[in-house]
Amino acid sequence: MLIRLFLLAFIVALIGRTVRNFLGGAQKSRPEATPTPLVADPVCGLYVDKDQALTAQSPSGDTVYFCSRKCRDTYLTPPPSPSPEVRPDERRSG
Ligand SMILES: [Zn+2]
Repeated sequence: MLIRLFLLAFIVALIGRTVRNFLGGAQKSRPEATPTPLVADPVCGLYVDKDQALTAQSPSGDTVYFCSRKCRDTYLTPPPSPSPEVRPDERRSG
């Protein structure tokens, strides 16, 4: 009989602690559960972990993050010069 009472008290204490943790958990910062900040890949738009992302320097000196080497290469490779598809002096005289 007494054991049942102890068990009940234990459960009540456990629930009370859980509720308190739930209510006050947002204020406390738990170092072991710090989420890795996500950073956006400017090339493909993917979100990657900052720790695992590849980095490069942007022209303005900021650090840019990429999901893969391919995206970083794409970013670092200068855009191709516009090909002269339409020539203004090309006219047909018929
Ligand atoms: Zn990417």
